[in-house]
Amino acid sequence: MMLAALLALKLPACAAEDPASTRVAAAEAIYADLADSYGILSTIDSDLFATYQGKDRRAWEGVYREKRSKLTTALSQISASSLSRIDARAVEVMNRHLRDDFPEQFSDQNAPPEHCHDAQRQDLSVESLEGALHSCFTELANNIEFEGKRVTRVSALGMLEEIGEEARRKKLFYAMEPLWNAVDGKHDAASPYRRLLPLVVAAAEGQGTRVDAGAKTIGVSSQEVERWLEQILDAWRQAEGREMVEPWNYFYRSGEASRLLSGVTPKDSFVPVIQRYYRDLGADLQELGVLYDLEARPGKAPLAYTDFVTRGRIVDGKWRPSVVHISGSYATGGLGLLNELVHENGHAVYEMAIHVRPAFMDVTAALFDEAFADVPSWNTYEPSWQRKYLGQAAPEAASLRDLFSSVMLDVAWALFECRMLRSPSADPNGVWTDITSRYLHIVRHPEISWWAMRGQLVEMPGYMVNYGLGSVLTADIRQRTREALGAFETGNPRWYSWTSEHLLRFGEEVDTPTLLRQFLGRPVSPQALLDQIRRVAPGRGAPGTRHSGFKIE
Ligand SMILES: [Zn+2]
Repeated sequence: MMLAALLALKLPACAAEDPASTRVAAAEAIYADLADSYGILSTIDSDLFATYQGKDRRAWEGVYREKRSKLTTALSQISASSLSRIDARAVEVMNRHLRDDFPEQFSDQNAPPEHCHDAQRQDLSVESLEGALHSCFTELANNIEFEGKRVTRVSALGMLEEIGEEARRKKLFYAMEPLWNAVDGKHDAASPYRRLLPLVVAAAEGQGTRVDAGAKTIGVSSQEVERWLEQILDAWRQAEGREMVEPWNYFYRSGEASRLLSGVTPKDSFVPVIQRYYRDLGADLQELGVLYDLEARPGKAPLAYTDFVTRGRIVDGKWRPSVVHISGSYATGGLGLLNELVHENGHAVYEMAIHVRPAFMDVTAALFDEAFADVPSWNTYEPSWQRKYLGQAAPEAASLRDLFSSVMLDVAWALFECRMLRSPSADPNGVWTDITSRYLHIVRHPEISWWAMRGQLVEMPGYMVNYGLGSVLTADIRQRTREALGAFETGNPRWYSWTSEHLLRFGEEVDTPTLLRQFLGRPVSPQALLDQIRRVAPGRGAPGTRHSGFKIE
């Protein structure tokens, strides 16, 4: 009701007679069809279903081509000078997505045509090299050989928290070496990753890297971002203790809470627990119709993700809600993976809450999207949440160390990418070793490229800033939410409607810095995260309980 009134205000009074506005509305209708055909094709390619609304892949590909060509023509006939401010923004957003996200020939982002071995070729474009390295994550990371079995990277990282014997942990850790070497070759200038970075920097010329985009989202400079990341890691270094740990023991040392709760976090419990939790937050996932595809299978996308199948729009005068789809590979249970799936559902409820005209029916900045998804997911590390939804809780210190040593690893990767994109010819093993030994107390191993465990690093260089810097925003949004609504760790029936109203419903209609300023009533600040890190200060927890639940998207 309120939204309809708001939208009415933003449209010019004479919309029906204004030819420019009519042309924009016509383009938007085509745009909505194009976006839907893209979402449906991607979901068909993910193998969730083979046909949709009675049409198969071929038919949808035809729709995609036709709509794309019509939209290109329609947008080219609109002159920006005659438009209202909001129509001009709609046209700009549609042009940007047409250029960046809807290629002439539909291609499945989760299954690029290149193979891992193509990454050795010296003549690849930035997109092809990213595609080839993405395929390394599908081909190698989903096929890690350990003790006569094949495990996925996601399972392997979970197992590193669980396995009691150090020798086995070390063996499993090194079983990921083929992946590291596919990404970083012989650790010299010919390494695929080291060839990729200058291409990424060159391609970003003029528009900025993903790090710059993340900085812009929260309204600070890229230099300031790097300083914040260092400040956060330094607070962690001081709170976390001094004992050095081998990288293959990092996850185990951080995993006590996960181990204590392993008996009450079987994979089959994930969906019912998450449905109950979100219901308590005022978001009924079943009613929202979120589609799940959570079984591990060969060839499946190596990263968990959430995306639109179709986007909400008005049909015959009535709002037809969005349909969203969550893909993940949950071969095993565990607190870290449960947390990841709560995070994916955070993306889902965000996408479902967007309620605007077609041009703006998408999540705003990636950093905001990732940061928001963690707002509900961080609660899985609160003992009160664990007691209510799992029936038992790990000690608070163990849980928070579990959460924050995982968050800090993301912050470390974000700082790694800031530094690498600033100096693309630097030695990544040296940069990673410096960061992880100084701030995370991990023993130096510059001879191995163990940083190469996150697909985002090669698929979308600079993306890790959305997690690392995103944690600043997560803590800030959580603090502001608690001030406005009270506690929401174990649910709060006003949470979803209030959050939708103040933060989520706008999609791309409002730019993120403006949105965040309105929501917080002040600039984004790392203070809330620094306060949370101090909850983990030594003396509060039992000796030797340093932790990481590993959220691996
Ligand atoms: Zn995410």
